[in-house]
Amino acid sequence: MFDTVIRNVVLCDGLGQPPRPGALAIERGRIAAIGNDLGPARETIDGQGLMLAPGIIDNHTHYDAQLTWDPWIDPSPSHGVTTAVIGNCGFTIAPCKPHDRGLVMRNLTQVEGMSLAALEAGIRWNFETFPEYVAAIERQGVGVNIAAFVGHSSIRTYVMGEDAPKRAATDAEIERMRMLVVEAMQAGAIGFSTTTSPAHNGEGGIPMPSRLAEERELMTLVSCLREGGRGVFMLTKGGHTTIDFLEALAKASTRPVIIAALLHNASNPEPVFRDLDGIAAANTRGHKLVGAVSACPLTMDITMKAPYPFEGLEAWQFVKDAGRAGYLDVLRNQQFRDAMKVEVTKPAIFRLFNGEWDRVFVTEVADPRHASYEGRNLVELGAATNQHPLDFMFDLALAENIDTLFTATFLNSDEAGVGKLLTHSHSIVSLSDGGAHLTFFNDVGFGLHLLGHWARDCGIMPIEEAVRRLTSHQASVYGIQERGSLQVGHFADLMLFDPATVGRGPKQRRFDLPASAPRLVTSALGLSGVWVNGTRIVNENGRIKGAPLAGKVLREFAA
Ligand SMILES: [Zn+2]
Repeated sequence: MFDTVIRNVVLCDGLGQPPRPGALAIERGRIAAIGNDLGPARETIDGQGLMLAPGIIDNHTHYDAQLTWDPWIDPSPSHGVTTAVIGNCGFTIAPCKPHDRGLVMRNLTQVEGMSLAALEAGIRWNFETFPEYVAAIERQGVGVNIAAFVGHSSIRTYVMGEDAPKRAATDAEIERMRMLVVEAMQAGAIGFSTTTSPAHNGEGGIPMPSRLAEERELMTLVSCLREGGRGVFMLTKGGHTTIDFLEALAKASTRPVIIAALLHNASNPEPVFRDLDGIAAANTRGHKLVGAVSACPLTMDITMKAPYPFEGLEAWQFVKDAGRAGYLDVLRNQQFRDAMKVEVTKPAIFRLFNGEWDRVFVTEVADPRHASYEGRNLVELGAATNQHPLDFMFDLALAENIDTLFTATFLNSDEAGVGKLLTHSHSIVSLSDGGAHLTFFNDVGFGLHLLGHWARDCGIMPIEEAVRRLTSHQASVYGIQERGSLQVGHFADLMLFDPATVGRGPKQRRFDLPASAPRLVTSALGLSGVWVNGTRIVNENGRIKGAPLAGKVLREFAA
């Protein structure tokens, strides 16, 4: 007798086959049978004609810290995610020496928008090395399956201390970093991650450590993946990092290279397609490069207290020079303002904000006398007061103790362009950034958005292709074994949803992080069930309270 049979469903296998009616049986955590009449089970669930598919694999999250206080990595499971990859972009919390903990948390606050109070109150530091971190989360238990990158900035800080964000590494330091990567890969890391993006800055606006790496350092650290013959290399690419160099890394390591963040810029659309062309060309030469793209418009809620999209600008040097005490004076400084206005209109390979002031809205004022501004964009508001939109924005913020909440859509807003990225033969759906930028946005519902908005509403791909891109495609690129498709013998990671209503709901603000820190969350639409290793963790009402922690820490990956 089976443990569970889910009957009366439409099976979508994750491999791209057209959906077909049937039933699926689970035994000891795995898919035991697929068919029509499967016989008796201890528990039989009527799927009411809904679609049963493999659970979503989310390859780009930053739950490393949250996982230590929240083994459920809420809210990802209630958006159909059954496997999450943590440690992207090189920002991990292991390895970390005890005296570097403060610095690592302050850097995460800056670069990934995580509340410092939440990190200080929340992180359980019961580890120092990467193997100890993985063992600690395994002991604690995980609600969904977790695979972890070892992060470049962390190993650089571990080896170089306070010099890590300041200079190139010596041969001896590179060798010690290489040993740490090898150690982490042996302990079950899914790969090695880094960033060369100028948008990635730590405390006080200084670059995150990996950005100081010379090409030879990257070459050494990535090449060592070749020895184990396992794992992938992921990076968030700065404009100066060429696809040719990344192809050289793929060649030297013989491992796949995942290139983030390929977002569509409506005011300068060519570069992202040039990158994808370069990636496609590398593949024809036998080197596996994949472009990480997003199904979501990059919309951010920001205040001038942490205006992430502006921090990568050259003009932001004014702020860095002035330090925290001089910040408000810099915001008033006309020379700084004018430099910002000019810079955002210049062509750039990759820049979050490109002067689209009509896409920046006042969302929430702090002073009720300004209530009439809410919901209006800065071009409109600036015109009404005869001001440049930036002057309007900064003046309003300054008048409100820089508490005014603005919402801006920076990238990935042009649907025709984004559709091309999502259907490209060498792209991978990615970039939820789960666990990070929590006050700016929350895209953990990217999978449901792909199914509802892109597949159903826009028709850019059939539902079975959208499911494939979220499941078996992810598993094959990342070497995740026996997951990502409905096959007898595979682990029973499943989601049950209504293709007619699936999607992600509107965002709302909650204050449920440690230290009551705020974050944005979205609701899930049309999702009726999620199973991880055969255990149901989500039903029609969302995550099942008291469900056992049935996830596994994944440590073995395909060659
Ligand atoms: Zn990231």
